[in-house]
Amino acid sequence: MGRTMPVAATIAIDGPAGAGKTVVGQGVARALEYLFLDTGAMYRALTYLALSRGVALDDEAALVALARQASIDVLPDGPADGRPYTVMAAGEDVTWQIRSPAVNDSVSIVSAWPAVRREMVRAQARLASRGRCVLAGRDIGTVVLPNADLKIFLVASLEERARRRAHELAARGEVVDESALRAAIAARDALDSGRAASPLKPAADAHLLDSTCKTVEEVVAAIVALADGRAG
Ligand code: C5P
Repeated sequence: MGRTMPVAATIAIDGPAGAGKTVVGQGVARALEYLFLDTGAMYRALTYLALSRGVALDDEAALVALARQASIDVLPDGPADGRPYTVMAAGEDVTWQIRSPAVNDSVSIVSAWPAVRREMVRAQARLASRGRCVLAGRDIGTVVLPNADLKIFLVASLEERARRRAHELAARGEVVDESALRAAIAARDALDSGRAASPLKPAADAHLLDSTCKTVEEVVAAIVALADGRAG
């Protein structure tokens, strides 16, 4: 209450794996009463479907066909089991399945295909066309919303990102090997940054934020301040 309407109608948050885009994006969306869309969940859902149906990860046409028929959806709520949002694909709730090590290892192969990306970007841009939304991903500021009102490129050290992931997994009761986690994150970053189609990189007009030594609340506050035009 009492908040002046933020100037920013669309906010893009990009960055490498584990930088905090989801938790920060959700915090910003909550503060501004915007919609939040984690676009990584869409690539993950497609990867999960491909793996579970035996679709070859090098069959670009088959992956696109699967994306079209799967009607992948990211919904803001769902059962209170610690999920950040609910992911539906082909009528199935795949919220937890898309976080498996198998999906982690394959998602950057699936997301590197240009035709797969076109399919996903079209759906994401359609959703964002209504405005008042925060989108998190790798190519939001560069490709999905090149005219976003505010662009953030969120980074954190590899050590810190691996530590956070380990913490998350441990909290869910999973056994973690932090050095293996670090290697897997670094490998995914390399694939995402090195691909030809929409590689992970900051947009020229993005604000670079380093979350390494900051709390989620501090990062959210910094972005909300930028959205309100109070900082810059
Ligand atoms: O953000 P998250 O780690 O869930 O993303 C999973 C993968 O999806 C990334 O490693 C990347 O390969 C792909 N991705 C992408 N473009 C986006 C969002 C995610 O290529 N906008």
